[in-house]
Amino acid sequence: MAASGSVVPANRTRRGPVLDAGDESLVFETTRGVEPIMTFDAMGIQDDLLRGIYQYGFEKPSAIQQRAVVPIISGRDVIAQAQSGTGKTSMIGLTVCQVVDTKSSEVQALILSPTRELAAQTEQVIQAIGEFINVQVHACIGGKSVGEDIRKLEHGVHVVSGTPGRVCDMIKRRTLRTRAIKLLILDESDEMLSRGFKDQIYDVYRYLPPELQVVLISATLPNEILEITSKFMTDPVRILVKRDELTLEGIKQFFVAVEKEDWKFDTLCDLYDTLTITQAVIFCNTKRKVDWLSAKMIENNFTVSSMHGDMPQKERDEIMKHFREGNTRVLITTDVWARGLDVQQVSLVINYDLPNNRELYIHRIGRSGRFGRKGVAINFVKSDDIKILRDIEQYYSTQIDEMPMNVADLI
Ligand code: ADP
Ligand code: MG
Repeated sequence: MAASGSVVPANRTRRGPVLDAGDESLVFETTRGVEPIMTFDAMGIQDDLLRGIYQYGFEKPSAIQQRAVVPIISGRDVIAQAQSGTGKTSMIGLTVCQVVDTKSSEVQALILSPTRELAAQTEQVIQAIGEFINVQVHACIGGKSVGEDIRKLEHGVHVVSGTPGRVCDMIKRRTLRTRAIKLLILDESDEMLSRGFKDQIYDVYRYLPPELQVVLISATLPNEILEITSKFMTDPVRILVKRDELTLEGIKQFFVAVEKEDWKFDTLCDLYDTLTITQAVIFCNTKRKVDWLSAKMIENNFTVSSMHGDMPQKERDEIMKHFREGNTRVLITTDVWARGLDVQQVSLVINYDLPNNRELYIHRIGRSGRFGRKGVAINFVKSDDIKILRDIEQYYSTQIDEMPMNVADLI
């Protein structure tokens, strides 16, 4: 299992699950009458889109895709929850391709995501899956040229995948015309409807036509979010996962007792060889700490890259590109990376700092173990963090053991 010289395949070259993410052991609480459809062929998807799906490497729908694709493409409002890495965002991609009329040149589907990188990733998925239906999709995200947005939108696109700020801006400039939008999808919807984003989402929502179809997607959907959905959804199909089913068997979780903050750095250095077996993401709670930790690692001759929301978008894009290609293996970052980003080669997540809430824990560790692959999450816990860890363990009915000596063998 040595890291030496092995060529890490680019993210898109290795598909096909190790475990089966369509496994029936994933337990759902589903609206009655929603039956799983076991093949893409049986879902009523147009032929040229099916071709794109198969060519992209999907053979069989995952458990959430079996349940939620048909309600979405038949026009129902849907709340779809499923474990991280089980194909939710991919499902957004394939369903919007099915519902838009590519003979029209108007925007018909709008997808909102909490980060620019996630909105761009979703654009890429749609472009790839929709290759044979000639779907035009545009990522409308902050930090990019407004002129380019205007050019693309005026040229005519069917789908916009964006972040709320820029999308709202484009709507208000009347560059993004909303009259033909029939479908709004919020990926990471609990985050989108939480305090930080709610007003911006509402700002966009009030420009959309009244007979809008709304789809909410996330791995975590706390009750306070589910409670407000009745305000803007009509008789939604609900596919929900019980809290104690939310952590994946394939992701092993450990902790290292570091006693105090100063010990974390040495612990990380000791783990460096393990980090580079495939690829690893290290989470800190602040941008400043990301800067500090990456500088200190580099000072000590370790190769790491880092990313956070205060960096210029160009730099963020470069870092993402290198990491997706496997040219960098260790990424130190903030929660800007916690949700949705899919790099299949990531098999290790380190919480250098424990996350600030229970939902973030699920999302962070879910950057590994994509679509049934193996993953390992290691939490650095100071003495006074132990109770936070125990709370997470209890809340999700999961097990977080002390890190074993042979942790590298599990990756
Ligand atoms: P989620 O949004 O649930 O975290 P993603 O949609 O990002 O999951 O998918 C995780 C990974 O699984 C991606 O690399 C994606 O290409 C892959 N994937 C999704 N659906 C399938 C499928 N039906 N068959 C094979 N791979 C899939
Ligand atoms: Mg996702």
